[in-house]
Amino acid sequence: LEKKERHSPSTGIFFDIKNKLYNKRSAHQTIEVFENEYFGRILLLDGLVQTTEKDEFFYHEMLVHPPLVVHPDPKDCLVLGGGDGGVLKEILKHPVQSVLMVEIDPMVIEAAKLYFPWLDPALKDSRVDLVIRDGGEYIQREADKFDIVYVDSSDPAGPSLSLHEENFYKNLKRSLSKNGIAVAQAGSPFYHSASIKEMASRLKDVFRVMKFFTAPVPTYPGGFWCFVFLSDGILPAEIKRDPPLDLNYYDLEIHEAAFALPKFMKDLVENDSK
Ligand code: SAM
Repeated sequence: LEKKERHSPSTGIFFDIKNKLYNKRSAHQTIEVFENEYFGRILLLDGLVQTTEKDEFFYHEMLVHPPLVVHPDPKDCLVLGGGDGGVLKEILKHPVQSVLMVEIDPMVIEAAKLYFPWLDPALKDSRVDLVIRDGGEYIQREADKFDIVYVDSSDPAGPSLSLHEENFYKNLKRSLSKNGIAVAQAGSPFYHSASIKEMASRLKDVFRVMKFFTAPVPTYPGGFWCFVFLSDGILPAEIKRDPPLDLNYYDLEIHEAAFALPKFMKDLVENDSK
């Protein structure tokens, strides 16, 4: 038995399924968890790999730690999406005061609690609150509130569309406190160049600082992913503190290297140096 995920009409990735652990349809998407010999447990939403036990650290460390070493005094964080809990577990390695997670689908929480060891302990941390809401709706009502906002969305389709619209980015900016930083996952520079170009042009109108950065993610399309660092002035190079030491991918050397973009990406995002 195998699971295939197409990354283009003629290419993709496949996993031999050792055993199926979870397969339900929620109001928003299909949620599957299965076991693979090499990657361990794998979470899929609408047939797309979201996270695996073996390689989750590439994505979660790279999305979470850069703003937390750059923000002058990070206290209150917001995670939009992120139901598998990987982002939450990385944030809690820092002495932040509060983390609010706004996840649209309680079934993702249910599946992740059952099969991914890190979510349950993270949700039990006294600093964490979980709200089941559309993040695009939630963000409309918050102003000047969060030091760091993480957009840990699935790719722009289905429930995630509301986390990729023009209005969403304006609301995202308004939700940030003074010196606030937002980071979002931005897709595959190799397979999703058109949507990255579109995202960059929208973001450029809203944020003064827009810096893309990259990291490999073995089980994502092309094995090569990107993220975007957004602020009203603070630059990613303004490191204020050391990151946690018990990480497997991220450190300050990787931080610097990740913001160096390959030529084809520079052309894609016209990364004005601010
Ligand atoms: N952390 C994951 C990883 O390692 O790949 C990234 C994807 S995470 C599973 C994406 C989450 O965003 C899912 O749990 C999905 O239900 C949630 N989501 C999608 N659209 C949303 C929305 N509009 N508001 C809040 N959460 C949303």
